[in-house]
Amino acid sequence: MKRYSQLVKHEGNSCLFDVIDIAILSTYAGVPVHIHAEGLRGTGKTTIMRAARNIFPKIERIKGCEYNCDPKDPHCPAHRDLSPEEIEKIGVELIDMPFLEISHSAKKGTVVGSIDVGKLLSKDNPQAALLLGTIPRAHRGVIFIDEINRLADTAPEIVDILLDVMGTKPGKVQIEEAGLPTVEIPVKVSVWAASNPDEEPGPLENIRRQLSDRFDFVVDVEKPKSIGTVLDILNGRGQKEDLQMEREKIKSFMEAKEKLEKIEVPEELKTALASVYINYGLESLRGMESILHGTWILSALSGKSPEIKDLSYLVKVALKHRTDSKNLAEILKNLENLSTKNAETFQKPPMELVPRGNFTNYRQTEVRRNNGENAFKKMFFAFSRALRRNAPPAVNPKDVEIEAPIQKAVPLKQLDFNERVKTEDELL
Ligand SMILES: [Zn+2]
Repeated sequence: MKRYSQLVKHEGNSCLFDVIDIAILSTYAGVPVHIHAEGLRGTGKTTIMRAARNIFPKIERIKGCEYNCDPKDPHCPAHRDLSPEEIEKIGVELIDMPFLEISHSAKKGTVVGSIDVGKLLSKDNPQAALLLGTIPRAHRGVIFIDEINRLADTAPEIVDILLDVMGTKPGKVQIEEAGLPTVEIPVKVSVWAASNPDEEPGPLENIRRQLSDRFDFVVDVEKPKSIGTVLDILNGRGQKEDLQMEREKIKSFMEAKEKLEKIEVPEELKTALASVYINYGLESLRGMESILHGTWILSALSGKSPEIKDLSYLVKVALKHRTDSKNLAEILKNLENLSTKNAETFQKPPMELVPRGNFTNYRQTEVRRNNGENAFKKMFFAFSRALRRNAPPAVNPKDVEIEAPIQKAVPLKQLDFNERVKTEDELL
């Protein structure tokens, strides 16, 4: 199996590398990020996702805890009520951030947990105990599922479990066994998945839309497009493993995690995002949350203040599975207009770094504003006001296509029943 440092990054797969970086840092910081790589067979999506474990930072857990209890935030039945002193007595250890796979033959019991038959039948000390499944064991790490579209088709009971795990952050799993009380455990697990939408049974969003919507980001992975890249691969460039490069990458995540506390996504970007949601009638707020969260993480990775172009970059992967391509193109065009205008006309103020107590609550924290108004902010507020008035967002009015209604509006009761309900074809 290839190591991370042996992979060749090119124009067809670079976005997956970026999104994986976001998911690693976020998981390491305690907030799961669910990603789905779609692409044809042979594009290397599965190889890249599996190799990413080589650059996982280590995490600290209470010594020997199978649930991977964070010493600062223990959650398992055995440790959650312990005092810091008691935890100190048990001790802590560093382990690899988990990376576990759910296979297509997985059963509910192996995924969430089941009764531990070994302990039950023990001659010396028989006791009813739980054998933890894959998901609780992957707490604070990653679960990988290859061909998730096929799993969604053939194993609906596993999909229901995933919906619970991915529905909230943190998610939850429930372990039910006859003769034992039902145990519900909170889990912080990032679900990473891959699929080929061109193969049976087709794209995930057509099979289980609810599950598809749970993914923060969906990335298209494509084959290399240039002769140079193919030559790189053929010549074996990047074939030699480079452990030093992997260690540096791990170090960069550890440093970026320290920066997260000081990063605040500017209010203007949040407003732009809220406007996109309202103006384009998007169904799910999850997509907006993913973009906002991703922008925050990306900023720590790049060491730069969050910008409109970060939003645009993430919109592509966060809304791809949540709106149609026409809507997506328009959203991107509007954001691009906003960023070009910004670059041409205004000087962006430096981002103020505000240390905060708990960075996971970054959405609720008050933004400390720079003193005085500036043109950049004025533009954004003008933009959001324009949206509230239902005007087209920040584009030159000359560029806006205006379509007159096809028919004059009439009260509903004057319509025939057949006119009230239209088929998809009729609407087109
Ligand atoms: Zn524990």
